[in-house]
Amino acid sequence: MKTFAIATLGCKVNTFESESYIASLKQKGYQEVDFKEVADIYIINTCSVTNTAASKSRQKIHQAQRMNPDAMICVVGCYVQTDADSLESMPAIDVLIGAKNKSKLVDIIDSSNQFKEQIEESRDLDFEFLPLSSTDKTRAFLKIQDGCDQFCSYCIIPFARGNERSASLDSLVTMAQDLVASNHHEIVLSGIHIGRYGKGEGMDLVDLMKRLIEQVSGLKRLRLSSIEITEITDDLLDLMASSDIIARHLHIPIQSGCNTVLQRMNRPYTVEQYTQRVQEIRRRFPKISISTDVIVGFAGESDEEFEETVRTMRRLQFSFLHVFPYSLRKDTVAASMDHHVDPSIKKQRVAQLSELSKTLKSMYEMQFVNQEVWVLFDSYQSGKVTGFSSEYIAVSVLMDKRPLSQWYKVRITYRANHRCFGELVQEEEK
Ligand code: SF4
Repeated sequence: MKTFAIATLGCKVNTFESESYIASLKQKGYQEVDFKEVADIYIINTCSVTNTAASKSRQKIHQAQRMNPDAMICVVGCYVQTDADSLESMPAIDVLIGAKNKSKLVDIIDSSNQFKEQIEESRDLDFEFLPLSSTDKTRAFLKIQDGCDQFCSYCIIPFARGNERSASLDSLVTMAQDLVASNHHEIVLSGIHIGRYGKGEGMDLVDLMKRLIEQVSGLKRLRLSSIEITEITDDLLDLMASSDIIARHLHIPIQSGCNTVLQRMNRPYTVEQYTQRVQEIRRRFPKISISTDVIVGFAGESDEEFEETVRTMRRLQFSFLHVFPYSLRKDTVAASMDHHVDPSIKKQRVAQLSELSKTLKSMYEMQFVNQEVWVLFDSYQSGKVTGFSSEYIAVSVLMDKRPLSQWYKVRITYRANHRCFGELVQEEEK
């Protein structure tokens, strides 16, 4: 039996794509082994969103070569698309796939063929269907959309993943039904720009969510991975109000809390517009978790602009922040901007906002002490099971058994060491 190992870098869309390759290879009789072990086939599902991600992608290729010089090495995804020149000349690589042909990967591996995609920029790609009916994880990601047409000035993703395109409603309903039938009762809708699902094809994200809620029996929680503020429509909020299946957590990237920086970033909103929408969401769902992404040290970000961002983060009372230092990506508009920020200043700013994130998270989660929440347990470690509530609060309960993939009502009793602990209230399915 041939063995394969896979390394996945980057976002939830990559996670979905890797899960699909894993499931299809296993179906064909291949055995998965850890990436640190000797395998016949190595797949590196790459990322190029930052310099660090790109360099980790290269490290994984070298690691695979060292582990087994005779292995078939397949390098797939965003780093291939954006840095093809440096990979095409590496003789150890047998398969190179960028933004298209991902759906051919498993057959190429199975036929032991070499395949090097002609990498070219393309803005007219069709959505490629990758099947998935089961994964090893409790929560399943479902890729509903790919690509982006927004071209924020710092972002390499529109170059790496190409134009916006969406999966068909019918294929997603069928895939979700299969996932729920295999015990994945929580589904996370993932994509590069999910708020643009169905754009130009006569359907939208709300149509998709309604179909999933109505037609996927046994679905207990539907989560959105990340959504732009401009795409949170009244229809979406109405649907959330009518269905508690939809998780009470919205991850809404703000990227900066200062209008002049947002303008240079080519983001399509102001801080005031963002704030107004958040207030409306909170008016309708007072305890909802709203988290965000922030880039610090963007080209020309002054001390005053950064301080403005800090004030905005405090004022908006996010439940947590994902903080990233700006990483210069070639071919983007920001790459040719002036006054790039010194790395040591970026580091200080990341540290400052990361500290603030801990405080905000604690303030948000403390409101849930003595409250009951439904938790889907998905990990077990030394007598403690941990899972997530609808608000994406991680809750741990001391327990001998390992009730993974099951729902329990839990009373959160205290918060310590940056996490919540609780006790079981109802040992039944939701
Ligand atoms: S919306 Fe902006 S940040 Fe998000 S993928 Fe598109 S270009 Fe990148």
